[in-house]
Amino acid sequence: MDEDWLLTAEAICCDCGGRCCHGAHPPLSPSRRTLITSRGVGNGNIEFTGYHRMAVDERGWCTMFREGRCAIHCIKPETCIAGPFTFDIRDGMLEIYLKHEGICPLAGLFRRTPGAYRVHYDRAVHEISRLVRDLPAAELAIVLRIDEPETDKVAEIPLEAFSRN
Ligand code: SF4
Ligand code: SF4
Repeated sequence: MDEDWLLTAEAICCDCGGRCCHGAHPPLSPSRRTLITSRGVGNGNIEFTGYHRMAVDERGWCTMFREGRCAIHCIKPETCIAGPFTFDIRDGMLEIYLKHEGICPLAGLFRRTPGAYRVHYDRAVHEISRLVRDLPAAELAIVLRIDEPETDKVAEIPLEAFSRN
């Protein structure tokens, strides 16, 4: 049942302590940025370094990581929802990657549980495709330069399936 793996996933993330929220700098599409700021999240939590992204505090934690969890869980950035799936674009293909279990224990759950994998993969592709479609081209180009080590490619989808503005 869905609830079973969702509870397991929550427990895994609790035990992990939010490793993916340290030094993360997830990018923000214009629509997600508007949504987040409309909920009272101040500008100090979002920075622009060629692309809009979440800021980190002096210890390297995302400023939205509060008391061991994401303070904007329901509206968090697209790549935070998609994780531990990540992406790249090469030769007109949207490439989907899955992190290694060693850096994200949740990836191990997905590798071992086909039903959970399918549900979360679909959600990840939905969020990633929205980010790719909504990000200004110049910002997307910078985001694509970010290395995502310790991942395996799990899918390739023709980019033309997602029309950009
Ligand atoms: S998604 Fe992965 S890295 Fe992030 S808190 Fe959960 S288990 Fe840890
Ligand atoms: S927005 Fe939330 S899930 Fe994403 S890095 Fe920050 S605290 Fe973590």
